[in-house]
Parts: sequence; structure tokens; C-alpha cells
Amino acid sequence: MKRVLTGLLVLLLLGAGGVWAFRADLALRIMERRLAKAMSTSVVASLPDGLNVAVCGSGGPFPDGDRGAPCTAVIAGKRIFVVDAGEAAARTLGRMGIAGDSVVLLTHFHSDHIDGLGNMALQRWVGGALTTPLKLYGPPGVEQIAAGFTQAYVQDASYRTGHHGAPVAPPSGAGIVAHPFAFPEGQDSVVVLEEDGVTITAFRVDHGPVEPSVGYRFDYKGRSVVISGDTAPSPVVARFAKGADLLVHEALSPRLVGLIHDAALKAGNPKRAKIMTDILNYHTSPDQAADLAAKAGVGALLLNHVVPPLPLRALEGPFLGDARKIFTGPLWLARDGDLISLPAGGKTITRKRLLR
Ligand SMILES: [Zn+2]
Ligand SMILES: [Zn+2]
Repeated sequence: MKRVLTGLLVLLLLGAGGVWAFRADLALRIMERRLAKAMSTSVVASLPDGLNVAVCGSGGPFPDGDRGAPCTAVIAGKRIFVVDAGEAAARTLGRMGIAGDSVVLLTHFHSDHIDGLGNMALQRWVGGALTTPLKLYGPPGVEQIAAGFTQAYVQDASYRTGHHGAPVAPPSGAGIVAHPFAFPEGQDSVVVLEEDGVTITAFRVDHGPVEPSVGYRFDYKGRSVVISGDTAPSPVVARFAKGADLLVHEALSPRLVGLIHDAALKAGNPKRAKIMTDILNYHTSPDQAADLAAKAGVGALLLNHVVPPLPLRALEGPFLGDARKIFTGPLWLARDGDLISLPAGGKTITRKRLLR
């Protein structure tokens, strides 16, 4: 109390100008302290061994101030795998303190899932002075994505190396290299990567007319995470989610999208209204995702690719519909900055926020 009174007295004596100078000085000290902490600590190193899921983009293609375009990072041990790279992917990962070499896997090539790739490659490269390009896994067609982004960033890469020097920005580390995979004849899945105890399996999903579209299953030290990608309710997703610890499933609310449809019609914009009708048949409602999760017996359900945006927190109830009644385990509506941890050697699953 005495200290507070002394502080108030000091502020009164300082006057308005003094208060501003005091605040600026305080802000600079806070910034120094935060920078020292950020530079000397690693979020990835501090995570428990096992699987950790960092939500680096929980929205869809709509303009959304709260949820970035699709991005889900799976950290297995110390390896970082980023599924889809929506436009704020690298920024959100950076704000979450998740740094280090990473690999990107694409579920499909809709623009909102790839438009952050350029910055992902750049931040990874210059952030670590890496000498090899970003590895980009995906179904056939991923070669074109990798080549296109690499080409678009050729000039930027030359400026970085020219300005900072090759030891800081080695030319060989710029750009993106494609690692395409295909399903063997008659199969709907393929193991795309098996390294350091991590197995990543891609499986076919139902996002027609977008072909190919895939989801991914991660297995590491007895824990498992399944990411649906964009899909209508799919028996293949259900099969791969069987018994998984965590299912990350996309979700679109037909009821709320219906409101946009109606508003567009009333405003005399039938083309926009048609898009709202078209998107219903290649996504999954929260109720349907919950039903699939319950039948697959997953440990927890994280709904992402939240469409449409929810500008009011109170809209989460109407968005979820009956999902919480259908799936009675832990069910979360993903938010950018969420971190879900599944430590090895147990069945626990915890959620915390890395962004406030
Ligand atoms: Zn999408
Ligand atoms: Zn899509």
C-alpha cells in the first residue's frame, strides 16, 4: 500500500509529460526483458516428449480477424511438421515461439491452405541460416506449388543473401523442394514419412471436386493425432481416426453459412449466395464431426477450419449445435495459439494457450 501511494505521489509530481516519459521507459524495459526471454528460451525444447499440436491457423478462407487461414503444426519429439500453410502461418508460429527447422505437408491446393508458403520458407531459411530448401510434401501437383513459390521468391532471396551475406542467408537454403507422394494402385493410404520414430500416413479424403485431397495421421511413441484436412464426412477419415488420441477435424456450420446465403440474396448478390450453397457439400458440420469422433472412439476432438468466422463469442454455441451432446469426450473449438499436448507413455491430453 505504501509503495502504491509513493508511486502515485511520484506520478503527481512528474505531471503529464513526466508520466509519458515514465511509461515509455517502462515499456522499453519490458521489451528488453521479453526479448531476452524469447532469445534464450525455446518453446519446442520445453515441450514434453510425445506429440504436441500447435494451432497456427484455425479459420478457413473467409476474412477473419480472430482465426488465421489453415495451419496445424504437429511437434513430435523435437521435429516440427506443419500441415497446411495458410497466409498467417509463419507469423502465428513465430508469435507462439515455435521456431526451428520444419517440414510442410499439404492436404490439398486450395489457396487458403497454401498462401502462406512463401513466408514459411523464408522465415525457416533466414531464421536458421539453413542450407537446404523447405521440404514440401503433398499429393501429385505439389511440384507445381513448390516451383511456383520458389520462382516468385527468387528476387527476394537474392536481396537477403546480398544484404546479409551467404553465412546468414545461404543461397542453397532458399525456396521449396517438392516431395510428392501417390497412393499405390487400389489403396487409399500411403506412409509418406518415417523418421526419428515418427510415422506419417496420408489418406484419401472426400473434398471433390478438389482432387487429390488428403488427411494425415501421426504416430509417435504410442500417441496418435489425425488431421482430417478439408472433407465431407468420410469413412476413410473414420477408419484412420479409429482409437486415435486426438482428431483434428474441419467444421463448417450450415446454419451460420445459411445466414450469409440469405443476407447475400437479400442484398441482390445471388452469385455470392450460390457459393454459400456450393460449399456445403464438401465440408463437415460440427454435429457430423462429433458423430464421426464418437464412432471412431477418439480420445478428444479439436474442431478447426472454422467456417464461417464467429465475430461474437456467443456464436460458438450455435456453431457447435449438438456436437457436445454427440461426442462427450473433450471437444474444443480451435483458436490460433492453442497448444494440445499428448505426452509419451500415457493417455493424458492437455490444452493451453500460447497466445493471449
Ligand atoms: Zn479449406
Ligand atoms: Zn479446401
